Amino acid sequence: MGNGNCKLIIHGGAGRLEGKVATKEQYRIGLQEAIHPAYETLLEQGARAAVLHAIRLLESDQIFNAGTGSKLQRDGRVRMSAALMDSKDGIFSGVINIYDVEHPISIADELRGEVHHLLSGSEATEFARRKGFPFHDPITMSRFIEYRKALRNREKFGTVGAVALDAKGVVCAGTSTGGIGNETPGRVSDSASVAGTYADMVGGVSCTGKGEHIINQAVAAQVIYRLRDGVPLKKILIDLMKEGASRDHEFGLISLDRKGRFGVRSTKASISVLYALKDQEHQLDFTNGGKNLIL
Ligand code: ASP
Repeated sequence: MGNGNCKLIIHGGAGRLEGKVATKEQYRIGLQEAIHPAYETLLEQGARAAVLHAIRLLESDQIFNAGTGSKLQRDGRVRMSAALMDSKDGIFSGVINIYDVEHPISIADELRGEVHHLLSGSEATEFARRKGFPFHDPITMSRFIEYRKALRNREKFGTVGAVALDAKGVVCAGTSTGGIGNETPGRVSDSASVAGTYADMVGGVSCTGKGEHIINQAVAAQVIYRLRDGVPLKKILIDLMKEGASRDHEFGLISLDRKGRFGVRSTKASISVLYALKDQEHQLDFTNGGKNLIL
């Protein structure tokens, strides 16, 4: 494989469910500002570095519900979750309900080298401190105001994610989220589970939408195991989304298969995934790529 096969797709959450922090155009610009530098990283350093780069940029952009700008939970605190996995070593690592750090995805990455690959809550934050990640307050004014109106704003989600395929054929997927907003403290998101994030040598997936629904269907892992069975990505996504719609589930995903096909799909027309993708031939985003894209 050469650089011509490199593919990157990123997402910034589930469309109308994002809340009112930014306009559609601002989300588009935010995604564009992440995909171009991360694509350069993909060419130079490979899939994992590209996924980390894209997600760190999105975590730093306050309009996205991940890292700085994460939604507040019912008790007024921000707890974030992030995970990543690549086909090189097949290790899923992540943090659940971590707080006071700038880049949850970096801590998830750091955990790849540990005995235990998933940590939660205060122990995850303590681990980050031991590894030299400083205190960072991720609460922004817009999210605080949104929180104050939280009862009216329920059921609005948001997340960021990235899936990359590099010149060596390595696939990596990562997801980072501030959760659904106004949730009960202690709730566990799908993002740092194999339902929300999964990758192996046949493909990678990052989900967004209602975590409970994503977990009910074990979405990301299902996509990968069906790919392993030789089912085409398009058919997998159509079937899974049909099943989701029939259960009134609300979620979407971005995906890539080993052959380099991109897939973006959601369970309902009203949920459009905010995404951007790039390879040698294509450069698309949710404003010009259509809602349910499969290339
Ligand atoms: N899936 C995330 C969660 O349930 C939220 C989102 O993707 O918008 O925590």
